[in-house]
Amino acid sequence: MNKNRIAKDVLKKDDLIVITGAGGFIAGALTRYFHDQGFTRIRAVDKKPLPKWYQRVEGVESLCMDLSEYDNCVRAVEGATEVYNLAADMGGMGFIERFRVECLRSILINTHMIEAAYRAGVDRYFFSSSACAYNVTLQQDPNVRALKESDAYPAMAERGYGWEKLMSEMFCQEYWAERGLKTAIARFHNVYGPFGTWDGGREKAPAAICRKVIEAKDTGKHEITIWGDGHQTRSFMYIDDCVKGIDMIMHCDALIATPINLGSSELISINTLVSLAEEIGGVKLERHYDLNAPRGVAGRNSDNTFILQVLGWEPKTPFREGLAKTYAWIEQQYYNRKAGKHTVQE
Ligand code: NAD
Repeated sequence: MNKNRIAKDVLKKDDLIVITGAGGFIAGALTRYFHDQGFTRIRAVDKKPLPKWYQRVEGVESLCMDLSEYDNCVRAVEGATEVYNLAADMGGMGFIERFRVECLRSILINTHMIEAAYRAGVDRYFFSSSACAYNVTLQQDPNVRALKESDAYPAMAERGYGWEKLMSEMFCQEYWAERGLKTAIARFHNVYGPFGTWDGGREKAPAAICRKVIEAKDTGKHEITIWGDGHQTRSFMYIDDCVKGIDMIMHCDALIATPINLGSSELISINTLVSLAEEIGGVKLERHYDLNAPRGVAGRNSDNTFILQVLGWEPKTPFREGLAKTYAWIEQQYYNRKAGKHTVQE
């Protein structure tokens, strides 16, 4: 196997890297990752006002711009060597089932960003797709067969959010086929970790469950409400694996314009997630199940055959380990908020 190339092998230290959605969770972590590797010119862009960014990395040019406007995309990518487009209006199941129009409108970001990047002559363009692009009819059982890349077609993606991702993937494929823009497309499966959304309605299951356990412990009300029957299954990828995977996928020529899973293959039920969070918190809670709450597909896992074959690597952080770090971080946020200090949240 050839050594996997990453940004450090391909870019000069002062090549301009543009990262969008950088006021949010994953792109914020990606910004820190490149900064820590010694890249000196990083431009981070998000529509959120700067004080609301989850992470602000010192020495990084940070711009507040709405990338659903084409002119702002042109400004964002000016002079860039590489573009990582992670900006999207999104959240956990509670958000994407309720706000389908907002999710669909991310198509404006993605169509404008890729056109602007192409016109600016960037070397490579990354797009963050999602496991929600997969055909939902293959995800109706908690004991799912893991999803492989070809399972996106025949298409029957998640309403709203998933269809937008699938369409934006297609833009990446056609900009390569017709115009020669090197694009990379990763289908993320549930990402979690410190500096992620943990409250406010856009948070995902691992953060929501940690917060509920912490709250129950703190208030002494030892009960928890779980969305759905708790048998739904998912795989969860730790943030450090996600940023490393983005770097490898972006710089692998065998993966140009080729959607690939970026996710863990450790399947976890929501009930197990609750048990793990209880164990970490050292508490046992009475469980209530809200069967009317949004719960998404019954089961979803990442088939990592392709990524292992191409990169000889897959996200491997054990869920128990990543969850403990996430729990500790959310606990700190929770008590900071209680003390009236600054916190990261929607
Ligand atoms: P996030 O919500 O934390 O970050 C997205 C950021 O995009 C936000 O800060 C938001 O303000 C910004 N944004 C939204 N609209 C914008 C606009 N018009 N102009 C500029 N910025 C805008 O989400 P995240 O979890 O970091 O997700 C990053 C990417 O990864 C998204 O494309 C998302 O769809 C994808 N993804 C995430 C997951 C996951 O589990 N977190 C799973 C699959 C795919």
